[in-house]
Formats: sequence, C-alpha cells, structure tokens
Amino acid sequence: MGIIRPLDDHLANQIAAGEVVERPASVLKELIENAVDAGASRIDVSAEEGGLNLLRVADDGTGIQPDDLLLAFQRHATSKIATGKDLFQIATLGFRGEALPSIAAVAKVKCVSATDDSGLAQMIEIEGGTLISNRETNAPKGTEMVVKDIFFNTPARLKYMKTIQTELGHLSDVIYRQALARPDIAFTFSHNGNLLLRTPGNGDLRQVVAAIYGTSSAKAMIEVKEENPDYSIYGLTALPIETRANRNAVTVLINGRFVRSQAVVQPLMQAYHTLLPLHRYPLAVINLKMHPTLVDVNVHPAKLEVRFSKESELRAFVETAIKNTVSSEAYIPSGASVR
Ligand code: ADP
Ligand code: MG
Repeated sequence: MGIIRPLDDHLANQIAAGEVVERPASVLKELIENAVDAGASRIDVSAEEGGLNLLRVADDGTGIQPDDLLLAFQRHATSKIATGKDLFQIATLGFRGEALPSIAAVAKVKCVSATDDSGLAQMIEIEGGTLISNRETNAPKGTEMVVKDIFFNTPARLKYMKTIQTELGHLSDVIYRQALARPDIAFTFSHNGNLLLRTPGNGDLRQVVAAIYGTSSAKAMIEVKEENPDYSIYGLTALPIETRANRNAVTVLINGRFVRSQAVVQPLMQAYHTLLPLHRYPLAVINLKMHPTLVDVNVHPAKLEVRFSKESELRAFVETAIKNTVSSEAYIPSGASVR
C-alpha cells in the first residue's frame, strides 16, 4: 500500500498562499491587478491598520457573472488564458488563477460583483477557505473585494508582520506603481480614513508623478519617447541634478506591469553615465511596450521578474532613448526657459 496521496484543495491553497500572500501588500497587488484586468476606469482602495485588519478594493470593471463567482475562488481557475499558446503571449496582469483562492485561504473575504447596472449583484463570503455564503444582493456594475483579518488562521505568518507603518509603506508602494503604470485609471487610496492619494485618471503621467512625488519633482522631469519596430518607450526621467539615494526611484513598467529589471535599470544608469553622482539614481518612470511574445512573465510567482527574448537589443534601445533625452537637456539649468 503506497503512502503518497494528492493534497486536498484546502491544503494546496494554503501552501500556494505561502508563496503568493507574503503580507497585506501582496494581497493588494493581486486585487488591483484583477481590477485593472477587468478594464476598470476607477479603482478605490482603502485599508485599515496597514491592511492587516482590512483591505478594500472597489472597481467599475466588467464584474464577475453570478455563476462564476464561486469558480473565481477555485484553484487554477481563470478567465484570462485557456491554452498553452496563451502562456507565451500574456496580455493581462493575472493569468495563474491562484490569487483569489490563496487570499481566501488565509483571510476572511467578501466579494460583491455585478456585470451590469441593473442593480442585481452576487455576493460571496469565504473565510479561511470555507464557504460562508453565496447569494444575490444589490450593487452597481463592478467588483468590490473586502479582505479582513489576513493570516487570522496562520498565526506563525501573522507574527512576522511588521509595524502598521511598515505595512502601510508596502501598500503605498503597490498603489504608486499601479497608478504610475496606468495614468488612464483614477486611483484613490485611503488609510484609516485619511485620503493619501488621488490620481486624476486622465492619462497624464506627469500628473500621477506629481500626486506621488510632488509637483516640483514632476515639473522638473523630462519626457522620454522613442520607438522601433520591437519596442516603444514612454516615460519621465529626472535631470541628473535631481537624484535620489534609493534605487526604487526608478519605476520600470513592462506592458503595464511593474517589474524589477536590471535589463532596463542598468542601461538607464549607463545613459546618464558620469552625469550621475555615485550611488545616486534619477527619479524615473519608464514604460516599455513590446509584443507579449518578447517577454516571458511566467518566471516568478509574484510576477515581479520577467525574461526578455531579445535582451541585448532591448538594453541598447533603452540606453539610446535615455541618452537622447538626457543629453538634449542635461546642461540646461532647471527653471531656465528652454524654447
Ligand atoms: P487570475 O487573475 O490569475 O485569473 P485570480 O484568482 O486573481 O486569477 O482571479 C480569478 C478570476 O476571477 C479572474 O480570472 C477573473 O475572471 C475574476 N476576477 C477576479 N477579480 C475580478 C475583478 N475585480 N473584476 C472582474 N473579474 C475578476
Ligand atoms: Mg489575478
């Protein structure tokens, strides 16, 4: 008699949650990604106590059909990819179908969703992987996710959470990146009832940068814009006199997805070359677009790392684009009239 058996779903979800849900900010990242994938034009986020007590994400996207709502919380269930071929050309932020079941395995989740403005909506509640209720209710079009008491059933994980302030910092990072990635979406973020961020959602990246980093930094940044048949780059980057000590100053977005990528940051630094003081980074937001086949996002469970199929070409493209931008403006003192 053998001793190997498949894990039951609940246990499998808890294990997956260990990878996907590190802290409240990881939950927030997944929920915002889902809202973006649903085509939202407005995403409202609120949190209490660094997200440990409560996270709420409401969007005005497509919504989830009543019959699909339970399925959305099932492991490896997704509306975003269907075939192996799809995996090599992912156009959405999500695709693993792992986030919702993982979150529901380690928290108390309520989801209200409606696919139209008839007023009819469906609501589901799941706590620690156990279905509490799934019934009709009333709500406008879109989806509201409320996640309470993260790690209530995994005390070992809860013990590792840092102070409210640290968790809030991570939540803010997540919102900032998503807001920078999508200036066409209006974001709000409030914490313990205080509004911390509001972006206009009018497509203007500079206004998002102003909301996050302040108006004077935003005003001083210069526009990067270039394309070739494979890549297009759009962004804002600081003059070498406006630098920061933190490498997080550079936000890299690939097809709207925030990633950590030396393949982009290094050529950017190279382009500034000797203009940058040692160990200083320019404040920059770099948006790269490319055909999904040129980038593999299925590398990392949190999808923070990607692989490029033509990395050296990409590096050269980024370096040239930034060089052209910086060298055209670098020696003009900020505030001076350029034209
Ligand atoms: P993935 O995003 O990888 O598909 P998730 O577990 O995050 O997996 O979500 C499962 C499914 O639930 C998604 O494929 C999508 O169909 C649906 N869904 C989740 N959140 C939303 C939302 N905010 N709006 C519309 N549909 C959603
Ligand atoms: Mg998702």
